Amino acid sequence: MNETLTCALVEERALVERYVADTLTDAHGRADFEAHVIACPRCQDEIRLAMAVRADLAPLAAGTRRARRVLPLGLGIALAASIAAIILSRAAGTSTRWQDLGAVPVAPIYLGVEVRGTPVRGDSLLALAMKAYDDRRYDAASAGLTGALAAGTDSAPAEFFLGAALLMLDRPEAAAETFGRVIALGDTPYLGEARFYRAKALLRQGNGAAALSELHAVASSSSAVSGWARALADSVESRMRR
Ligand SMILES: [Zn+2]
Repeated sequence: MNETLTCALVEERALVERYVADTLTDAHGRADFEAHVIACPRCQDEIRLAMAVRADLAPLAAGTRRARRVLPLGLGIALAASIAAIILSRAAGTSTRWQDLGAVPVAPIYLGVEVRGTPVRGDSLLALAMKAYDDRRYDAASAGLTGALAAGTDSAPAEFFLGAALLMLDRPEAAAETFGRVIALGDTPYLGEARFYRAKALLRQGNGAAALSELHAVASSSSAVSGWARALADSVESRMRR
């Protein structure tokens, strides 16, 4: 199509909602939408919000999942969402290099975490570390998250964003190991994203086969990143056939 979109057109066509629901196909201008989003902070925020809403609704739909605890003041719950995946599924289509398939140009977005009844000291360290993360100070974030984990904060979000910070610092080995610990925690809200980004870290190291097994695990689940995982798996598979 190659149409230059505006925010008004994005809104009019409900492209954000369709994108997040993974129903925006190439034939319906997926590429044009992604080209707009990469350059548009406003639409990035819309995606963030839409993913947060979906994350909130998902447990209700799943039924069997445990109930989420709710933030005080009715702020609601949000979890790790990844518009980074956007740009990636796109870049991956044409690239022939493992390094490019594993690239993460935009960090996973932090939307806040579930809070427990009784905060521990690690929780305030987590908040500080995530402030650094939001400011793209990934060195400070990774140091802070390591401290928060040692002080007993919930491990799933802290480990997930530690892995993300390491990925942004281009330390794929440490990132893969950290995401591996999130995956080992089992059914947390971060499981799908952790597999997806662990695959990214493995691709950065040139390990296509290991990346593929993570991507297949996400693709067959009902994670928010399943569609993106399938797209990336396709690219990895075609790279392996070369
Ligand atoms: Zn826009």
